[in-house]
Amino acid sequence: MLCAVYHGPRKIRVEERPEPIIEPGGMLIRVLACGVCSTDVKTLLRGHPLIKPPAVLGHEVAGVVTRLGESTKGFKVGDYVSVSPYISCGSCYYCLRGEETLCENLFKVRIEPGGFSEYISVPRKIVEKGCVKINGIEPEYACLTEPVACCIHSLAKSNIGQGDSLVIIGSGIMGLIHLQLAKRLKTSKIIVVDLREDRLKVALNLGADIAVNPSTE
Ligand SMILES: [Zn+2]
Ligand SMILES: [Zn+2]
Repeated sequence: MLCAVYHGPRKIRVEERPEPIIEPGGMLIRVLACGVCSTDVKTLLRGHPLIKPPAVLGHEVAGVVTRLGESTKGFKVGDYVSVSPYISCGSCYYCLRGEETLCENLFKVRIEPGGFSEYISVPRKIVEKGCVKINGIEPEYACLTEPVACCIHSLAKSNIGQGDSLVIIGSGIMGLIHLQLAKRLKTSKIIVVDLREDRLKVALNLGADIAVNPSTE
């Protein structure tokens, strides 16, 4: 199978690799869409302390189940799924406090080799807790499950709700997802701040009440 392999800052090559092995309870997914996260871009441009090359980046994955491991439950070949790239352990200090995103073992159970690959192997724990069926949703949209989940988590943490006004600093992808989710929460005024006019325009089109460019006003 082909993968885009990161070999260090500004070095990425498409290479042939053997298909990953599926563990019992796991499954093999053919990747149909993988979002390009800012983390991927930043890693590619200047490296990342936790991502050692060679590595296959990409963690916003949607695809189709092509093979099941021994005794895998809950999915069948042909199911369209959105896949969490890794999963919290459920038993460390942070997991026990409900702070799963700070899990000490967060990257131990993960998809192999990474989303910028033709196929990924999904381990049992992620099959059980980190895969959702997306039958009927275009993979190009479904692969945004992970960033949307991050933004839902962020809004829940900030306790934003009906009638609150909200300032969103930055109207890149995450800012724009926050904006669209906040509208659904029936917030009152949403103010979006960005240095880029093109992005502010998108924010206004998506329902921001006020767009502020601090470099000009
Ligand atoms: Zn991401
Ligand atoms: Zn944990």
